[in-house]
Amino acid sequence: MRTLILLLVFIAVGWGSLPWIKKNLPPQFNPFTPLAVTDPPGWMTQLKMKRLASDPAACLDVMNRAQQAGLVSFSQRPPVTGACPLANPLRIQKFGPVNLSSSFLASCPMAVASTIYVLRSRDQITKQQQSPLVRISHVGSYACRNIYHRAEGRLSEHATADAWDVTAFQLANGQRLEVGKNWQQPAAKAQTLHSLWQEGCRVFGNALGPDYNAAHASHFHLGMRGAGYCR
Ligand SMILES: [Zn+2]
Repeated sequence: MRTLILLLVFIAVGWGSLPWIKKNLPPQFNPFTPLAVTDPPGWMTQLKMKRLASDPAACLDVMNRAQQAGLVSFSQRPPVTGACPLANPLRIQKFGPVNLSSSFLASCPMAVASTIYVLRSRDQITKQQQSPLVRISHVGSYACRNIYHRAEGRLSEHATADAWDVTAFQLANGQRLEVGKNWQQPAAKAQTLHSLWQEGCRVFGNALGPDYNAAHASHFHLGMRGAGYCR
């Protein structure tokens, strides 16, 4: 009987504090606030991002709000059919003031992750290099193929536009941080590149870099599979 009363009290208190939780808990801990690209990464943000994969309308909403805030420029593209279909692809043109070596196709959840990632990278770079990020070079996102271009095996994350291969970060002062050249040296560039890769693990499901294997010597593979997988 006492347990039952206690349980009822707990439920009542929990129910009573629900409006408070909805209103006051920061977004990265609050399951009720919709995801925003400015939310700090963390397990709740990861969870919300995973949920977007099964809710295209909610995902597009997140991206539309980010575009209205000037944080990203993208357009909706027609569905892609064939061996590697894409239901609701987006084409990303740039991230606010950060230009791209070329536009790229992204699944909506990957578009959300990459927007969060570029925002965080801008902060990291400004802090560590005293010059803002102005351009990102990359070698693509969507490719209808298996992992490591093998003839057999499972499809790559690139087959669903769920991964983005980033090669370099260009700063306003003309400096370039190249994954292929600066992963080890000079120290200041290497340090910033390592923290940019770690930021990738916080935002994406996985981030693979030059330490993983020779196939990733020249780029960061930032993908949606997994959770915080960092190699
Ligand atoms: Zn890749």
